[in-house]
Amino acid sequence: MQTIADRIRHIPAVSEPLSADVFIIEGDARYYVFDAGASEAAYEAIAALNKPVTVILSHFHRDHIANLSRLAPDQILAGARTMKYIAGGTLVDKPLTIRDGVTIEVQPCVSPHAPGSLIITVDSLYTFIGDLIYARPGTGQGEAKGMLRVLKSLQTQVFVPSHWTGNPLVEKAVLLKEVKENFQI
Ligand SMILES: [Zn+2]
Repeated sequence: MQTIADRIRHIPAVSEPLSADVFIIEGDARYYVFDAGASEAAYEAIAALNKPVTVILSHFHRDHIANLSRLAPDQILAGARTMKYIAGGTLVDKPLTIRDGVTIEVQPCVSPHAPGSLIITVDSLYTFIGDLIYARPGTGQGEAKGMLRVLKSLQTQVFVPSHWTGNPLVEKAVLLKEVKENFQI
C-alpha cells in the first residue's frame, strides 16, 4: 500500500494473478475505489474499509473488476459496456461530479483500449485513466484521436495510468507525447 496524496492510497498492479492498480480515495462520508482489481492485496484493502464504498470501474477487463465477485460495495459506477459484466451497477454515460470532502469528476472517455471507459479526476489534480491509452500496435487510431482531444482538454497536469512501469504519476506532457507517438497522430 502506497500513498499518493493525503486521501489517496494505491495498491499497485501485480502480474500473478494479473491485477490492475487500485486507488482508494477517502471522502468524508464514503470511500471511492477506482477499479476493484483481482489481487488478494486489493481485495483485503477494499474489504477493510470502514465507511460505505463506491467502486468506480474504468472498464470491463477482468484484472479491473474480478474482486467485485467477493466484495459487496453498496454502489458501483460503470460505463455501458462494463455494466454487462457486473451485477447491480449504476450507469455513467455523462460526466458526474461527486463532492464529499474531495471532488471526484467521473467522465466517460473514448478509448482505443475498451469501449465505454470511465476516467476520474480528483480535486482537479490527478486524472486516473486505467488502461485508456493502451492498444495493440496498429489499432485504435480513430479512438485515440478522440481520446487525445479529451485528455488535452482537461486542466489536470498529472495523469495516472494503470499497469505503468515506475512512478504511476505521469506528467500530462509526457503522457500526451507517448499517445501521439504510439498512435502516430
Ligand atoms: Zn484492460
